[in-house]
Amino acid sequence: MTPMRRNALLIATLFSVGCRGSLSSPRGAQAISEETRSAIQLLCSDIGESACVAACPGERATREHVECLLSLRFGTDPEALEMARALYAGTNAVVGVEVRGSIEGYAGEEVELYPALPVGEHRHHLRWLHSSLVAFDGFVGALGSRTEKTVTFTPRPRGFAFFQTASPAYPSAYCWEGVIAYNIQGPLHGDHREVHETLFHELFHMNDAARSMWSTSALGPLFDSIVERCADEHECLAPFAPHGTVVPDGTYYAFDPRTRDVREYAAELAVRYFLEHETILAGEAARLPPFKCATAENQIAWSRLVDEFFGGVDLSPSCDET
Ligand SMILES: [Zn+2]
Repeated sequence: MTPMRRNALLIATLFSVGCRGSLSSPRGAQAISEETRSAIQLLCSDIGESACVAACPGERATREHVECLLSLRFGTDPEALEMARALYAGTNAVVGVEVRGSIEGYAGEEVELYPALPVGEHRHHLRWLHSSLVAFDGFVGALGSRTEKTVTFTPRPRGFAFFQTASPAYPSAYCWEGVIAYNIQGPLHGDHREVHETLFHELFHMNDAARSMWSTSALGPLFDSIVERCADEHECLAPFAPHGTVVPDGTYYAFDPRTRDVREYAAELAVRYFLEHETILAGEAARLPPFKCATAENQIAWSRLVDEFFGGVDLSPSCDET
């Protein structure tokens, strides 16, 4: 990875630990489904709900209602509308906008955000996201076919909330309540492969949050013991880092004192699981050594992750073979 990539990923993930709970019930929303309410939240918050009611009045079936709202918002760009409709039809993920005006950066600074639909020159993000979600569905399906246990990892968000920033163009992505917030000009979003890995990282945060921050209880003491042993010594931390992401002028992202967080360690671990298994399932030569074999702690963390989210499926080579 290039330093820019590392730096960009760092920035993208700093804002990713806030996924919580499920959608709350807005006022007077008895007659419509939760899915429609979710779509209204994503598609109408910046223009006002009354504009959406005017364009899509009356009680409608969920799918018809959501498609009406998509047509309202993407009407000026038929090509983007087609992509947003296909994404929704294929994955149930609704594309809308982020309306929070700002988010706190890791240094405590306020980063301003602006709602921004992926239309015109940005519409390709819809195609990339759709393709990635389909690939993740296939990935989870392939794991499921290899186990009697349940693969609990959910490879889909309920939606995407698009935004842009002034300068600098970060964060690239973060998540909240089952929604992935996505910066159309994020430094990680210039390339589909980078989007792919960032999306998996964010999906893990979503799954972790849905399981009451599993990472904190399952990996917290283990993570703390690594930090206690190595502090911020890069060489000492190297075998414990699931991913090469480093903080500029610091050490591995999950362990650097400025960004240290077991939830990020777990998300990096999940991405490592994905990267190793993606090549194994494709029948390709391994590009990474088995993470689990580097240390006893890695073995424990790997096995807990595999059991909790991936149905116990571990196709990476046994450590005796490596
Ligand atoms: Zn993260």
